[in-house]
Amino acid sequence: MNNKYELIYEGKAKKVFSHEDLDKVFIEFKDDATAFNALKKAKFEGKGKLNCLISASIFKLLEKNKIPTHFLELKNEHTMIAQRIDVIPLEIVLRNIAYGSLCKQTTINSGTILKKPLIDIYLKNDELNDPLITKDRIELMNILSSSDLDLIINLTLKINLILKSFFKKIQLQLVDFKLEFGYDANNEILLGDEISPDNCRLWDLSQKNDTIVSLDKDIFRNDLGGLIEAYSEINRRINNSI
Ligand code: UDP
Repeated sequence: MNNKYELIYEGKAKKVFSHEDLDKVFIEFKDDATAFNALKKAKFEGKGKLNCLISASIFKLLEKNKIPTHFLELKNEHTMIAQRIDVIPLEIVLRNIAYGSLCKQTTINSGTILKKPLIDIYLKNDELNDPLITKDRIELMNILSSSDLDLIINLTLKINLILKSFFKKIQLQLVDFKLEFGYDANNEILLGDEISPDNCRLWDLSQKNDTIVSLDKDIFRNDLGGLIEAYSEINRRINNSI
């Protein structure tokens, strides 16, 4: 980004810059990948651009379906303009199929199709390793009111319905995903962050047999190789469907 804009925040996968309009920010997507709370790190040339383009398409789809998001427009292929929000320090994970940490922490078998979506909420805090948190603890910490928590949970369930059916049309199974929300200048709750294969598990449904083919960050977590090819394939399918 041009140095007339101030770097407000740098996360693991994105940089946030000031905008001349104080209610907006520029979000630049980086090529860095991290996993296991940044214990594992790598760079994939082109990942930032792919995640930015995929996220922009998904945010547009959600806006069309009346979900309030921070997305405004693309500035270029790896930078979006978004509403400035105060991020709520919670990671809302919705699971349709049991996988990942759910199976490590419980006796539920990997691949179990859940009868109804499961919502797991984590405290966004790297020092504490993003612990699973309860509704009562959220209230105790005064992170947000219980009515706003309900609002976020309901938005997440609605987003799941929209995304699950969209991804199914392009032969992808939405296994689970992580969302973040925040308050805009009018105190309205908006969906923030990104929606990309970095924070969604997407399995290829176009495979003939039953083997799981991940087209998401599990490729990096499990050293499977072909991450850029997989993210490009997701972007290609999304573009072909719109
Ligand atoms: N996730 C994420 N950021 C995190 C943790 C999880 O985006 O810090 C996403 C992850 O990509 C997956 C979903 O949330 O789509 C559920 O992840 P899980 O809790 O199973 O954790 P993991 O297996 O990644 O340790």
